[in-house]
Amino acid sequence: MTGRLTIAGLGPGDAALVTPEVSAALREATDVLGYAPYVARVPAREGLRLHPSDNRMEVQRAGEALKLASEGHSVVIVSSGDPGVFAMAAAVFEALEAAPQWQDVAIRVLPGVTAMLAAAARAGAPLGHDFCAINLSDNLKPWAAIERRLRLAAEADFAIALYNPRSAGRPDGFGRALDILRDAGCGERIVIFAHAVTTPKERIETLSLKEARPEMADMATLVIIGNSATRKVGRWVYAPRRAS
Ligand code: SAH
Repeated sequence: MTGRLTIAGLGPGDAALVTPEVSAALREATDVLGYAPYVARVPAREGLRLHPSDNRMEVQRAGEALKLASEGHSVVIVSSGDPGVFAMAAAVFEALEAAPQWQDVAIRVLPGVTAMLAAAARAGAPLGHDFCAINLSDNLKPWAAIERRLRLAAEADFAIALYNPRSAGRPDGFGRALDILRDAGCGERIVIFAHAVTTPKERIETLSLKEARPEMADMATLVIIGNSATRKVGRWVYAPRRAS
């Protein structure tokens, strides 16, 4: 039997946002690997082995998945949201590059609804015009790169989606990011804090950047900063498509 490795996105939380394609891959799997809270979202059944692991074990987990697939198993490695957005798909290709013996493993990447799209839909259409996404975690890149991208994104007048804004291990970066954006003249911009979108703990808060405080974000929050033309209509926030 030839194995295969499927890299799948589980969406932002709600089971209704798991795509039929991903559900089918999970039904056919012999092994599911991933960060423990994501693996916990996969329905258990006989014949399915679950391999939950720690968050930081990404490349090691990817290597294990490739090995299992090369041995003939039907392996799914899961991420939340989309697997290509700050998640496992890139880790698998990194592991593949380091391990030529697995180059022949059949791999497919199945997209999912990434957090920024679920968050944007709740708020209205804040990503309706040009935007960028920045991962605020400096675990894998220098903080200076993040600062530079924030400054340039502000200058280019992008709406900005911030992933991984703040965690117990990185309590200060998000406050610094807010300061950088205020210094860049973005104080009047609309900011959306979208917490645990599509889960029972969902909370959406909208305010101006100058009112935003670091404690408003945690690891379950996706932050969207509007561009200079982003506005409100009733309770909705949107970016006009004709903005500069
Ligand atoms: N691959 C994931 C992102 C992984 S990075 C995706 O495509 O969504 C993890 C970050 O995603 C979190 O720190 C948070 O910023 C964001 N995130 C993931 N799920 C979320 C949710 N349900 N609500 C709000 N933000 C979420």
